[in-house]
Amino acid sequence: MKKITCIVGTRPEAIKMAPVIKELRADENFLVTTLATGQHTDMLIQALDDFGIKPDVDLHIMRSKQSLDYVTASVLQGVGQFLDENKQDLILVHGDTSTTFAASLAGFYRHIPIGHVEAGLRSHNLSLPFPEEANRVLTDKIADLFFAPNKGDAENLLSEGIGREKIFITGNTVIDALYDILKRREGMNEPEFMQSVKSRPLILMTAHRRESWGETLKGICAAVSDVIHERSDVIFLIPLHKNPVVRDVIRESLKDFPDNVIFTEPLNYPDFVYAMSRSVFILSDSGGVQEEASALNKPVLIMRTLSERPEAITHGTGLLVGTERSKIFTEAIKILNEPEYLQKILAKNIMPFGDGTASKTIHEAIMKMFE
Ligand code: UDP
Repeated sequence: MKKITCIVGTRPEAIKMAPVIKELRADENFLVTTLATGQHTDMLIQALDDFGIKPDVDLHIMRSKQSLDYVTASVLQGVGQFLDENKQDLILVHGDTSTTFAASLAGFYRHIPIGHVEAGLRSHNLSLPFPEEANRVLTDKIADLFFAPNKGDAENLLSEGIGREKIFITGNTVIDALYDILKRREGMNEPEFMQSVKSRPLILMTAHRRESWGETLKGICAAVSDVIHERSDVIFLIPLHKNPVVRDVIRESLKDFPDNVIFTEPLNYPDFVYAMSRSVFILSDSGGVQEEASALNKPVLIMRTLSERPEAITHGTGLLVGTERSKIFTEAIKILNEPEYLQKILAKNIMPFGDGTASKTIHEAIMKMFE
């Protein structure tokens, strides 16, 4: 029996690794361990729990105001110790976090093969997103199996000299996760926040990127207040990220709009999916949300200056609006006020991130590796 450890540290890793964990666990040839580093605590455990997964090992590394140095060093040591005590045949990491890179390094130091789920995404700018772009590039330098969501991601890997035989184009596992949840959400009650929304136009907003902390985040909130002044009927639903650097600024900046802003704690994944599907559009700087919005055919105003997911913009419902107050306001109002503009955005979507079978493709590639 082959031993595989799936390593996750944050909410998006949990959501996107969950379908892979479930798929591999169903194969009796594999002994699958889920290792949570605890780079996030509550949000990570909640996201795994939404898929019925409990971590087998939890390193609990999270500290308040933790630095990148601290996270990286703790994951490296913690995962290293686990691998010394529990010899593995393969580790799987996901995406672009400090957990992704540090856990890969721990595997690399022990000559354990590393499979990188969501490999090959590139913004081609090491500062955007920070430090995620560096985490991706560094992880792909030392990984052995590359699960690239799209052709463009595979081409990025090829151009960096990675052998074609190690790259598998899989689609993005977030679509597997989304379809799983959509199925399970059928028949469930409306989330509580819908009581204040009723039939008003709903806009879902999330913002947490490190490069937006401070004045940029205040500007984003000012754009939200501009939209409310122009369209007093709208409701913004804002699930606040747990990081106080983010939540305190957003709460303070929008405290004068209790009739137009609903603040919540981070939503569980089924409720977040419900909110996405119920929104007129989504305002977000998240990577995963760009992919999910495409699958749900919802416009997403991407508050970044660059995206490592060009498919969301070329073939999907993504609009790269940046973080400037006036640009966010103008696009938001255009979507709210011009139905033909909204229709034009929706018409171009061709489901760029896969058909919900990414974890099956990953499973097949892993079986082949062990042949
Ligand atoms: N998400 C969630 N609840 C929330 C906000 C986001 O379940 O309150 C999900 C969302 O659907 C997506 C993921 O969390 O799958 C995105 O996480 P985040 O924005 O933290 O990370 P990123 O995608 O930018 O890496």
